[in-house]
Amino acid sequence: MSTDPKVSIAQMEKIVSLCKRRGFIFQSSEIYGGCGGIWDYGPLGAELKRNLRTAWWNTMTREREDVLGLDACILMNPAIWKASGHVDTFADLMRECSLTNKRVRADHVDPQSGTVLKYSGAQSPTGWRWDRTITALTKSGEHIESFRKRIRVLIAQNAGEAAGKPEEIELLNEEKIDTVNGSVDFHPETGGILGEARPFNLMLKTYLGPTATEADVTYLRPETAQAIFAQFKNVFDSSRVKVPFGIGQIGKAFRNEVTPKNFTFRSREFEQMELEFFIKPDEAVDIISGEVAKWHEGADLSEPQPNWGWELWHRYWVDQRTKFYEGIGLGGVLEYYWQTPEDLAHYARACVDILCEFPFGTEELEGIAARGDFDLSAHQNASGKTQEVFDEELKNAAAKLTDEQKEALIQKRLAAEAAKTKGQPLPEAAVRAWFERLFKGSYVPHVIEPSAGLDRMALAVIAKAFEESEKVDEKGKKEVLTVLRFHPRVAPIKVGVFPLLKNRPEMVAKAREVYALLKKHMNCFYDETASIGRRYARQDEVGTPFGITIDFDTLGEKGPELLDTVTLRHRDSGEQERVKISELLGKLLPLVS
Ligand code: ATP
Repeated sequence: MSTDPKVSIAQMEKIVSLCKRRGFIFQSSEIYGGCGGIWDYGPLGAELKRNLRTAWWNTMTREREDVLGLDACILMNPAIWKASGHVDTFADLMRECSLTNKRVRADHVDPQSGTVLKYSGAQSPTGWRWDRTITALTKSGEHIESFRKRIRVLIAQNAGEAAGKPEEIELLNEEKIDTVNGSVDFHPETGGILGEARPFNLMLKTYLGPTATEADVTYLRPETAQAIFAQFKNVFDSSRVKVPFGIGQIGKAFRNEVTPKNFTFRSREFEQMELEFFIKPDEAVDIISGEVAKWHEGADLSEPQPNWGWELWHRYWVDQRTKFYEGIGLGGVLEYYWQTPEDLAHYARACVDILCEFPFGTEELEGIAARGDFDLSAHQNASGKTQEVFDEELKNAAAKLTDEQKEALIQKRLAAEAAKTKGQPLPEAAVRAWFERLFKGSYVPHVIEPSAGLDRMALAVIAKAFEESEKVDEKGKKEVLTVLRFHPRVAPIKVGVFPLLKNRPEMVAKAREVYALLKKHMNCFYDETASIGRRYARQDEVGTPFGITIDFDTLGEKGPELLDTVTLRHRDSGEQERVKISELLGKLLPLVS
């Protein structure tokens, strides 16, 4: 994708427009002017999302023996969000425009250049006065008169009816105070100077129950993960599983993003696909296996091993998730950002962001974090309900250790606690108490968390698939053709079915027969209008990987050997092959699922 910002913006505009025109994504509440950061998926978008969701669910749960699924509710007891830290710390720093009170995320302010003007206040013939310093930046190339007009309009909008007509507002004591270059202190839309950065909690509040008092406040979940932790014991106790194992969940999440932007990339309502993969603490692995395997470049990550500690499990999941993305057509556009020790939360051991190339830049698609036992321990402490598991194998292995060997393990951990650069080291008494439980076979599992966003994934897949080419038609007229080169597994429509001529009833009947045969197994589209080339082009534009044409040969008009065969067209290679109707399903199903 282009690095020229103008080309990138144009590319994004084309994608947004195609998404609307062909029914992938619509602005929510569009007839009422929209609803910031909320998007609806049209018929093709719904299919695309469903395919991505199914691909994740099958890869992460159904096809594995060690991951179970969960479908928990959006609303939960608010105590969960207190224990998880979301009530106190799930906040972005935001800054407010002094003219309009519009907010912007402190780290999302685009640099601006121009002249800074200051007024001591404003007044209008209605008697209204604003005794407040107004500081704002001219936009590049903006004439001073246009600037003043713009500021009057913004002030009038903010002040309401009392200020009267914008053109009658008088700006008092204009002063040019500075010229700035690349400043991040002015609101990118209004030019108004921004106030100090303040934390803003991103959770959406609501009330549970009819009294709607402060005591009934709860939140729309800002992530799906906490329900997995809160239900960990129920799943563990009811499913006859052993650590290591995982619980996966797909569902809606809500964040009151200060500046939703880049189409669906940063929305206020979105869908997450999260796995919490529970593992033994490294000390338990050490006791059972006599060692904890170390990661090295080229380490074999294909099959999990009993001597893997958190580091190899974390690497394993980065590898698994990369393979997943390659399997849905995102190979070649991924990058990795390994968080530095300074970036990491105090409880996290490692976190890698899988990034993807979007037209607006290379941005996060998924985060994979090794979170230790922070989450389950937090819920254990807050709820008073144990989140420990009992591990017979560990108990038996620990029983064989000598006192010296046990003390050596304790000393190793104490040294690690003392070397901590973030968070509080665990006091010695707490470390010894923890080992006492461990030697008896009990511990709170640690966790690796691959956390992906479905909407970002859908946008990444659309952006990667989008391609334009120019064609000159028979009359010499240039035409821009758009193709979405979706991987067949995620394409919303798998096959287009076309009778060559709509005025040949036998051809139409045969085409409807083929359509009915395939429709039970995959999403198909039947089309008998316009020329066959036009019909192919329409399907190319929505990313349909295969087209089937029913023609004279199908009816046996060119000889009995071609009777009941169709032309199968492959979107990407342009190849056309003759296939028996009876063999179509067997040929297509493995390609699209
Ligand atoms: P960002 O830094 O982009 O705000 P994050 O690190 O806060 O994302 P996580 O809390 O790790 O995101 O959430 C996991 C995944 O959920 C992200 O990788 C992303 O795919 C998705 N996600 C998070 N916030 C949003 C959002 N506002 N809109 C769409 N998807 C989101």
